[in-house]
Amino acid sequence: MKVRLHFVVDPMGWFCISMVVFVWLYNTYFIPKLVLLPHYNEGHISGVPVLCYFLASLFCVSALIRASTADPGRLPQDPEIPHSERDRWEMCNKCNMLRPKRSHHCSRCGHCVRRMDHHCPWINNCVGEDNHWLFLQLCFYTQVLSLYTLALDFCQYYYFQPLTAVNKEDFAVRHELALLRGSSFMGVVMFGGITTLFYTQITGILSDTTTIEKMSHFMQETGSQRPWQQTLAEVFGTHWKILWFLPFRNRHPLRRSFGSRSHV
Ligand SMILES: [Zn+2]
Ligand SMILES: [Zn+2]
Repeated sequence: MKVRLHFVVDPMGWFCISMVVFVWLYNTYFIPKLVLLPHYNEGHISGVPVLCYFLASLFCVSALIRASTADPGRLPQDPEIPHSERDRWEMCNKCNMLRPKRSHHCSRCGHCVRRMDHHCPWINNCVGEDNHWLFLQLCFYTQVLSLYTLALDFCQYYYFQPLTAVNKEDFAVRHELALLRGSSFMGVVMFGGITTLFYTQITGILSDTTTIEKMSHFMQETGSQRPWQQTLAEVFGTHWKILWFLPFRNRHPLRRSFGSRSHV
């Protein structure tokens, strides 16, 4: 698997992504320690919910690492432009480089990105044509993990709590209630924020409009509506729907990398 890493030098971005990693670490450590493993050891639950939690956590952090270190769609220094495509390219007035229409210059990253959606400080990277699929996976798995965490916090308060009285040694952890409240607070904030973001991302992809285009009131021409399967397959680089959920793979564009639609 050929992996090209991409790092953005931005202290604000480093701070934001550190907060995201902290939330992930906090819940991946404390939820199994306070809730899952004590009940598993006592025989109240099987190993399946424990395994599912660690899997959701693994997929979530994998999507985060890959989305933040993937090249979002940076253009080569001397792009080879096919003759038939010349009218679909333009000059960036910030870096003086030729780029396909629908590209955008990111002032944080300092370069143009093909079909840029937006710059996300929470992953400290641009979201563009080549890593949009990883950003969608990150949103999806963050929703799964935060909802699962909230459900476990709720069960611990109202269902499991009486069981802790049976075996004090397994369940007694100092400040358990405060730690669970912290986890619930993070779960509500993450789930609420990411669900709204995921919804706007999906509606944007289905209408073939990027966040930047939406903000500049660009509306796609009517009459070019395509099936949602085709639109999402192009974003994820495969028609195999099961692969849309896997961050451990490479994306192969289904159509030419350089955009072919009209611009804002
Ligand atoms: Zn530029
Ligand atoms: Zn950027």
